[in-house]
Amino acid sequence: MLSYDVIEHGKPLQVRMRETPVPQGREVRVRIVRSGVCHSDLHIWEGYFDLGGGKRFNVKDRGCVPPFTTGHEPFGVVDALGPDAAGVAVGDRRIVYPWIGCGQCAVCADGDDHLCLATRFVGIVRPGAYATHLVVPDAKYLVEADGVDEAWAATLACSGLTVHSAIAKLPVLKPRHWVVVLGCGGLGMSAIAMLRARGIDRVIACDVDAAKLERAREQGAAQVLDTRSPDALVQLKALAGDQIAGVLDFVGMPATTTLGTGALCKGGHYVLCGLFGGEVTMSLPPIAQRGISIRGSYVGSLRELHEVVALAKTGRLAPPPIEVRPASEASRSMEELRDGRVSGRVVLDFGSVDA
Ligand SMILES: [Zn+2]
Ligand SMILES: [Zn+2]
Repeated sequence: MLSYDVIEHGKPLQVRMRETPVPQGREVRVRIVRSGVCHSDLHIWEGYFDLGGGKRFNVKDRGCVPPFTTGHEPFGVVDALGPDAAGVAVGDRRIVYPWIGCGQCAVCADGDDHLCLATRFVGIVRPGAYATHLVVPDAKYLVEADGVDEAWAATLACSGLTVHSAIAKLPVLKPRHWVVVLGCGGLGMSAIAMLRARGIDRVIACDVDAAKLERAREQGAAQVLDTRSPDALVQLKALAGDQIAGVLDFVGMPATTTLGTGALCKGGHYVLCGLFGGEVTMSLPPIAQRGISIRGSYVGSLRELHEVVALAKTGRLAPPPIEVRPASEASRSMEELRDGRVSGRVVLDFGSVDA
């Protein structure tokens, strides 16, 4: 098999050839066809998350020690089965659910693998999808997506799922309510499309880039706001008539958290997804007095992946702009993503790589 690996944090990925693993027990091996490049791959590549105040979370503490294969948006074809594997056949085309837990604990038994304390996340703890082959512990982590474009299907494993799970954490919306999307990169654009597909039209898109706001409007945002203005909070609340019941923050920096929590109407939910980094200080009594919720959302459950694939199959969901590139451009794609030169999603073509 062939993979593009992190050999040293922050340095170009390097191609590696090694023995193709043979699935054991209930394991299933997937020949990767498409592999999405996600923003969180950057943190794994660079080796840390910024926790603010000079603090860092180092990915090596999560078992992510180079040389390491990153990538957690896999779509491929089942090409070998362990002796006890059940539920799929060689030749089946599947999305790999990457947020795999220990499979032993009560949380995993509840179907919340992504919240397990002993995760085996693909591309973070287990070898990832910038590779021709991937071994999955159990066929239940493979999701059929017939009729959905394969590059798009790959991105549903992380970006689509993340957006779907975040939207699921909004409160019950009344017709008067608005939802704010903070950050109009790949996730924000998917969120606008997904909100619209669910019949939620009162969406305000916020960014600091006029071109991204223009695309957000084309994607279906009813209002857009450039949040560089010093009175952005006042403007935002005015656009919604002070009826912002939900904020989806796909940036996750102090400025967006302050703006998002400040913009909510009473009882509103602020959902934090972005991992840009930093820390904030907040006055506590108003959180209680306004009855607001501050929730984190990180990827989503296997059940939620099935839900978002079902939504994609209806045809109501507009796919995000996707650029398919040769697998050999993995490293360049990460660099462009880091430098903010990618709009939409990049998906690597591993299907045409000889392995
Ligand atoms: Zn991701
Ligand atoms: Zn578990």
